[in-house]
Amino acid sequence: MTAPVRWNAGEAACSPPPGETAGCSDFSGPTAAALDALACYDVLDTPSEEAFDRITRLVRRLFSTPIATVTFLDGHRQWFKSRQGLDVPETARNVAFCRIPVQEGRPLVVPDTLADPRFRDNPLVVGSPGLRFYAGAPLRAANGAFIGTLCAMDTRPRSFGAQEIDILLDLARIIEDELELRLLATTDFLTGALSRRAFLDEGQRALNLARRHRYDLSCICFDLDHFKAINDGAGHAAGDAVLAATAGACSALLRKSDIFGRLGGEEFAILLPHASAAEAAGVAEKLRAAIEGQVGASERAIPPVTASFGVSCLSSATTDLAALLAVADEALYGAKARGRNCCVVGAPRGADVAASGRKVLKAGSIVFNLGQSAVDCTVRRLSDAGARLDVVSSEGIPKHFKLSIGSEGFSRACEVVRKEERFVEVAFD
Ligand code: GH3
Ligand code: MG
Ligand code: MG
Repeated sequence: MTAPVRWNAGEAACSPPPGETAGCSDFSGPTAAALDALACYDVLDTPSEEAFDRITRLVRRLFSTPIATVTFLDGHRQWFKSRQGLDVPETARNVAFCRIPVQEGRPLVVPDTLADPRFRDNPLVVGSPGLRFYAGAPLRAANGAFIGTLCAMDTRPRSFGAQEIDILLDLARIIEDELELRLLATTDFLTGALSRRAFLDEGQRALNLARRHRYDLSCICFDLDHFKAINDGAGHAAGDAVLAATAGACSALLRKSDIFGRLGGEEFAILLPHASAAEAAGVAEKLRAAIEGQVGASERAIPPVTASFGVSCLSSATTDLAALLAVADEALYGAKARGRNCCVVGAPRGADVAASGRKVLKAGSIVFNLGQSAVDCTVRRLSDAGARLDVVSSEGIPKHFKLSIGSEGFSRACEVVRKEERFVEVAFD
C-alpha cells in the first residue's frame, strides 16, 4: 500500500514562488520513476471507470466546482483518467497546472489564476475552458514518484481553505490505493487472463524451470490492430467486449500448461513450455486466424478485429523473462510494420539491434528552429538507429530536428521517416 504522506494544509503552494515570472516552461518533465510507475499501473489511454469517476463527481459536489479531474502526467501531455465538466481527454504538458504539484509533491491552490504570474497567460486561462481557480492534490505511486493529481477547477476565482485541502488529499489517497490494489489482483477482471504482475511472476518461474531442465520455452506477444478505431467507432463497452471475446477465443485454443496474461490495454502474452519457435509460430498463426474469424462472424457493428503477433524462443543468452518478452515485442512491432494481422518470429537475443528499437518510456524534447522551438514528447521506442516519439500533435514538426532526453544528457539529430497524427518515427542522422 502507498506509504502515507501527510501534508499540512498550510504547506499548500498558494502563492507564486518569489521572483517567478509568467509561464511555466522551466518546469522539467516527469522523472523516469514517475513514467515507470505509470507504465506499471498501465492507466494511460484506458477508458473512464466508475472507481475514478465516483471521486471526481464527489469533488465537484463537495467543493461546488464545475470541473474536477484525475490527471496523469505523461512525457508530452496531461491525460485525464476521469473528468467532469471538461471536454478534452488531454492537453499538452507544458500548459498543465498539475506539473507544479507533481514536481513539488504538495498540493497547489491558485485562488485566482489572473492574479498569478505563473498562470495568467496560460492558454487554459485565456482560452477554453477559462480557468480562474485551481486546486490540485498530487498522486503518489508506491515507488515514491508523483505521477498526477486530483484537481478541482472553476471558471470563477474562489478561496479554498485548509479543511478543503485536507479533504482533497484524502480523496487523492483513495485513488492511490485503488491503483495499488489493482496491481495485487492476479486475474484481469475483464478478460480472465492473468494480470500483468501475475503473468510476470508465473512466467519467470516457468523460464527458470525450462532453463534448469533444458527444454524449449516460447513466447507469443500480440496486440490488437487499430483498437483505438474500434473504441472510437463503437464505444468503449464494445471495445471491452472485443477484448473479452478475444481472450476467450485464445484461451480455448491454448493448453492448460500455457501461461496467458494481459500485459496491458489490448496487449497480451503467452508462454508455451515445451514449444519450439516453429511450434509457437504455428500456435500464433492459429490464434491470429481465430481472432480474425471470431469477431468477423459476430453481429456487432464494429470494424474487423485483427491482431499482430511476435514470437520468441528461449536461447542460451536469455536469462530473464524481460529479455524473452523484449524479443517477442520487437517481432510484434515488426508485424505491425509489415501491415498488421500477421506473425513475425523474432531474432534470438544478441542479434537484436532491431531498427524498431526496444520499448522505453522517457520524457524528451523535439528541438528545432535553431533551438528556438521545442515540443515535448514521450520516447516510446529507442535503438541505435532511431526512435518512436509520441506527441500531442505532429503538426508543425519539421523533417529534421534534434531529439534531446534531458534526464540522460542524450541528444541526436533526427530525420522523420514516418509521421502520424500523434507520433513520429525518426532515424538518427
Ligand atoms: P496499433 O494497430 O498500432 O496497435 O493501433 P491501436 O489503435 O491498437 O493502438 P493504440 O495503442 O493507439 O490504442 C490502444 C487503445 O486501447 C487505446 C486505449 O483507449 C484502448 N484501451 C486500453 N485499455 C482498454 C480497455 O480496457 N478497454 C477498452 N475498451 N479499450 C482499451
Ligand atoms: Mg493495438
Ligand atoms: Mg497496444
